[in-house]
Amino acid sequence: MGKRKFKAESQKLLDMVINSIYSQREVFLRELISNASDAIDKIYYKALTDDSLSFDVDNYYIKITPNKEERTLTIVDTGIGMTQEELENNLGVIAKSGSHTFKSENEIKDGHDIIGQFGVGFYAAFMVADKVEVVTKSIDSDVAFKWESKGSDGYSVTEVDKQDTGTTITLYIKENQEEETYDEFLETFTLQQIIKKYSDFIRYPIKMDVTESKLKEGSEDEYEDVIEEQTINTMVPIWKKNKSELSDDDYTNFYQEKRYGFDKPLKHVHINVDGSIRYNAILFVPESAPFNYYTRDYEKGLELYSNGVLIMDKCADLLPDYFSFVKGMVDSEDLSLNISREMLQHDRQLKLIAKNIKKKVKQQLVSLLRDERESYEKFFDAFGQQIKFGVYSDYGQNKDELKDLLLFYSSTEKKLVTLEEYVSRMPEDQKYIYYATGDSRDRIEKLPQTELVADKGYEILYFTDEIDEFAIKMLMNYDEKEFRSVSSGDLGIEEDEKEENEQENNDNAELFAAMKEVLSDKVKDVRASKRLKSHPVVLTADGEISLEMEKIINAMPD
Ligand code: ADP
Ligand code: MG
Repeated sequence: MGKRKFKAESQKLLDMVINSIYSQREVFLRELISNASDAIDKIYYKALTDDSLSFDVDNYYIKITPNKEERTLTIVDTGIGMTQEELENNLGVIAKSGSHTFKSENEIKDGHDIIGQFGVGFYAAFMVADKVEVVTKSIDSDVAFKWESKGSDGYSVTEVDKQDTGTTITLYIKENQEEETYDEFLETFTLQQIIKKYSDFIRYPIKMDVTESKLKEGSEDEYEDVIEEQTINTMVPIWKKNKSELSDDDYTNFYQEKRYGFDKPLKHVHINVDGSIRYNAILFVPESAPFNYYTRDYEKGLELYSNGVLIMDKCADLLPDYFSFVKGMVDSEDLSLNISREMLQHDRQLKLIAKNIKKKVKQQLVSLLRDERESYEKFFDAFGQQIKFGVYSDYGQNKDELKDLLLFYSSTEKKLVTLEEYVSRMPEDQKYIYYATGDSRDRIEKLPQTELVADKGYEILYFTDEIDEFAIKMLMNYDEKEFRSVSSGDLGIEEDEKEENEQENNDNAELFAAMKEVLSDKVKDVRASKRLKSHPVVLTADGEISLEMEKIINAMPD
């Protein structure tokens, strides 16, 4: 068969994968290992539904072998392999994931832990190799095939001999260049470290031939080099490990390996509960919002495992909407493997876990706010809107849960503050929590309405999100202090001027009455006021709804 070109978009994508998706070259190994593990999972899954197949765990492994002389690195797996067609489809079209198709075709909800879904991981190999060969024999085929490519100029597929089902990938490691060296990817020790770092929890053994210096038999001081096949990974999922054995990096690697996001987690929490309900969970607060977060396309949820086996990709019932940004997984021995989606909704255990998770996430955010303010502000920048939305929605049911997580910009502090901080600074005579609404801090700063309050030395919270005022209306008050818009008709600070105003109103009663009559339905009332300082006019609102809210409500489709 002649040489095939990658599809045009694939070529661009390939360049992108090689040059920009991954910040570290070493992750190519993580990608190839996760594909190998997926391939074994697929056999495992097939065996569950096909009586003619058996799955003897001892026959399944991944083996990594460097060869310095040949400058090659091979990755062997005893997984499901690929047919010729699959080779063409899965490796000839970039961004096409066979694993994704496999999962949807088989409506998988149990029995495995297939990681792949984006269809770009394999190409990471070209970060370190200038040529890649894939020799593979599918469980559904008697013939084996070799796929071969030097990167963006295309690939070829030929028939070859191979006895056993599975896949062997050979990377021809790049020659060292002036600034970049690639020798490390041929060093057993480095490879061991990379495997430990990224693939330790892979459920199948990842083997390597390791040379150990051992005492010669019968000798007390003479050593000899012995080559031993060792399993490098511990195979224990990270969530079943002891927290004290794990570093921040381990969690970050897990987050990235699981593709919870392409960013880094801002905070993680590892939960081991062993009481009336037993579960392990690792939860993450991401650093930034996914591009579709504030759209309908975004699906919240956590991965749900029953004793190490994945039952559901995105279990939505585990998270309240206002914490929909949380990523991660939950594993419980108390959940049945064959539980259906519908049954899960009513599962008592699941409800308890969800409640517990909600509490833990809240605690994490509170401690982030208290101890790592800068990180919290980063979090709030990404997900604050969702928290505000949580205060507002469900008729304010969650407001007490969430009110202390809110941040608003303060006129006097010139930074984001909590409501608690605001109230703690309020002078005795200040009755209300003042806020001003506008498109931006700049615009608000120029509002004449802010003048009187600011002159009094009172702090004003700036509401620049449309949702802000709606959320506050739900809260009604904080620590018994009511919220008051600076454009409200009654600011509650004109006390000392009241008498003067009264006097003026009385003195001009006739004039005001005449003005009111002339303006008839254009005005509600005509009266004296001390509101203006340096501006000629000021708009104030009369009722519960501020001018800003009125604008938003008027703009809403009927
Ligand atoms: P993803 O893993 O996200 O699906 P990859 O680019 O890593 O994307 O792999 C593309 C596809 O190629 C996989 O979905 C799988 O169908 C197939 N594949 C890759 N490596 C192997 C392998 N070792 N054994 C069987 N199939 C594989
Ligand atoms: Mg993959």
